[in-house]
Parts: sequence; C-alpha cells; structure tokens
Amino acid sequence: MSLAPPPSAPDVARDLAALRVRLASCDEAATLRPLGLGGLLLGAGVLDRIAEVVAEVRRGDGDVALIADARAMDSTRGEVKTRVTAALAAAGLPVRRVRVGDENADVHADALTLRRAVKACSGAGVVLSVGSGTVADVGKAVSAQLGRVPHVVVQTAASVNGFADDQSVLLVNGVKHTTPTRWPERLVIDSDVITRAPVELNRAGFGDLLATYTAPADWRLAQLVGQDDSYSAFAVELARAHVDAVLEHADGIHRAEPEAIEHLGAALTLSGIAMGVAGRTAPGSGMEHTVSHLLEMAERPGVPAPLHGAKVGALSVLAAMLWARVRTVARCGGLRMLRFPSERELEPQVRAAFAQLDPSGRVGEACWADYRIKLERWHDARAELETLWERWPAFDSELERLLVSPERLVEALRAARAPVRLTQLGVRDSTARWALAHGHLMRDRFSVADLAFFMGIWDSAGVDALLVAAARLGAGL
Ligand SMILES: [Zn+2]
Repeated sequence: MSLAPPPSAPDVARDLAALRVRLASCDEAATLRPLGLGGLLLGAGVLDRIAEVVAEVRRGDGDVALIADARAMDSTRGEVKTRVTAALAAAGLPVRRVRVGDENADVHADALTLRRAVKACSGAGVVLSVGSGTVADVGKAVSAQLGRVPHVVVQTAASVNGFADDQSVLLVNGVKHTTPTRWPERLVIDSDVITRAPVELNRAGFGDLLATYTAPADWRLAQLVGQDDSYSAFAVELARAHVDAVLEHADGIHRAEPEAIEHLGAALTLSGIAMGVAGRTAPGSGMEHTVSHLLEMAERPGVPAPLHGAKVGALSVLAAMLWARVRTVARCGGLRMLRFPSERELEPQVRAAFAQLDPSGRVGEACWADYRIKLERWHDARAELETLWERWPAFDSELERLLVSPERLVEALRAARAPVRLTQLGVRDSTARWALAHGHLMRDRFSVADLAFFMGIWDSAGVDALLVAAARLGAGL
C-alpha cells in the first residue's frame, strides 16, 4: 500500500474551501478570524481568466477601476496592464485606469496617494490592483474606504507575503504602520507573469519568507513570558508547512523556473493568510522585521532603498543567531538573573535611541509610549519570570521545531543568489549596529531581542559579538 504524497503548497493554496474546513476545526478556531480571501487563481496562464474573475465579483454595473503604477510588466502575451485592459474591454467591462506613484513607478502608500486613489476609484463596481506589494496595499485600503467595494489583486511579483491578507503597510507621518484594511475577493498569481518579474523582486519575497523560521519562535516566546497570549499553532503551521519546499527550490527562484516560482507564490500566500487569520503579522514578523523597520526609518529620501524582503532575509540570519546565543546562555543558567530595569532607567535610553533620527523627540515619545507597556507587562510577570529557568527546557525542545540554524538560512540565501550581508544592500555599518541594538525599543511586541536584553546580553557589546560570529558565516555586515 502506498501513501498519497502530502499536498504541495500550490495545491493547498488553491483549495481555500478545504483550508476553511481545517481552520474551523483547529484548536484555536474560536480565536482565529475567518479567512476572508474569496478565491485564488495560481498557475501558468490564469491571467487569461481575468475578465471572468472580475465579472464574478463586480458590484452592479459599475466600471472597473484598475490601479497600477507606471511600470511596464511583461507577460507571455504583451504588457500585463494593456493585456488586462483589452481582456476586460473585450468582455464588455468598462475600465478606468488609476495610476499611483510617479512616472518612474516610485509609489508610496502615504496619505496623499491614498486620498487621490480613493477619489479616482469612487463609484467603481470593482477595484482591480495590478502590481506588487504597495499597489495591492493601496487597493486594499481603497476597497475598505469605498464601502467594501469588491477588490481583485493581480500579483505581478512574488516580492512580499502581504497580498493575501486584510492588512496594508501604510506610511503615516513618514512611519510605516501595518493597518487593518480588507481581504481581496480574488488573488490572481500567473506564474508566466511572476517568472518575468525582475529577479530581485522574487528574491526579496524569498527573503521575506525566511522570517517564518524565526518569527514564530518570537511569538511563542511572547506567550511564554506573559506578554501576548495570541499564539496559534495552526497559524504557524500554515505559514511554515511549505517553506522547506521553497528552500529546496531556492536555486530555481534565481533561474525563474516556473515550479520554484509557483511554490514561492503559494508559500507567500499561505503566510499572508496565516497573518490574516491570526489578525496580526506575528506568524511572519518578529525581531528581523523590527530591525528592518528601524533601517527603513533611517533611510534617506532620494536614496534608493533596499527591498523590504531583501533586508528581512539578511536579518533573519542574525535573528536565528541571536536565538542560538540566547539558548546557549539560557542552558548555562542565564535565566536565573533576569533584569527588571525601572521606567526611570529605561525612558531616557528609549528616547536617546531615536533622538538622532528625530531631534523633535516625537518618534522617541511614540516609541516610549509603546515600550513602557511591554516593560510594565515584564514587571507584572516578575513572579513567574523568576522561575522561567524551570520551564525553559520544555520550551527549548519546542524551539527545535520552530527554528533552523543560521547556516541553513545563509545557504538558502546563497542558493537564491540573494544578498546575505546588509552592506551588500547599501546599509551603512553604523546604521545596522544602531538598528540591531535598538529594534526592541520601538514597539510593545516582544521578541528574542527583548529576552536577550533582559538577560543582559543585548547591548552594543552583544551586537558586536553577534556580528563577529556572523562574519564567520559570511553574514551580518
Ligand atoms: Zn515582511
């Protein structure tokens, strides 16, 4: 008797009905949110069905507002937006084109861009976003703001995991915020289009996915230390189950092989769905993302910024290394002398960390407002934390299943020809050290960097030591 092979990522992602059944019957069913993505089309040539998909969800006889940036995107049969517009026109669906961003296709999901897009899409029967992450984020926000007008996303690169969820990364007063918006009704991922996208975009999606090897451990840790009880084994499993297969195809991503690209697209979709049903980014965003946010805050206008996923990929190696360090120190008794610094001690540290970035002090103020919540919870849990070392061995064996070695991540990045070192991405040495040392001071989210800090091993000397070890792997700076 032979057993059927387990379903592949593309098979799982295409069958959302089966996924809904699993979601409804999992242990955390009562706390997870419904999967709001209506349908996924994934594979070679699925873009041919765009008119049918749009007609299916269209509200009344409103026209189609096609949101895209100025970038030309290649497919087997012509430029993607032109092809989509022609297909809709041939099916009798009127289209208005809504361009976001400038003539160089530089687009930011800021307040002005959103306001303009909402106005330009007003009265449409469907919003159709064609593009990469930021364009889809704008589309999700427009759909939410226009009274839940149906939204179809045509994904043109496997660049991030944020297509298949109800959250948008929006720029608010110059700072990126993950903001609740709306699930798209349909997501269309044509591998003929994705294989023709610039390879660095697909490599960035691969980098973003590597966070699923570190972030879930941070989320579980937050639960262990009494910071956040929202951990969901189901969401983690969904985000993680197919990433190993993507790593096995890493070289194929570099070569734009359809099978590798389909696995990548599907795994990113499942990771997005995991974040959507969890109602938070925690299944795919931990320490590597907080440090990446600090790097983004330090980016200068007018200087081309590295891709989000490229930074996350390189930083996930460092997060995995810090996890390894924390586990070693914990095994040697490092949890018996946890620190409980006072607000009076930490407030000036948090403010000073962001003073150079924003001399007005507003960023420091906002970070302190968030950080003090985390600090307060840390103090509130003091009695249990003083015996954390007793519960650690059981937790440590759980970590075996959540983490992988830094070497494995370096090997994967190399196979995909993705950047391994931050300086390859143009990040300055001093900026990288600052972001690593202060990432945990920005938010109330608890990560391995917080535990390391309270263990007394995450200060500038700790950062230096980690970077020396990273250099031995060809990673870090
Ligand atoms: Zn990300």
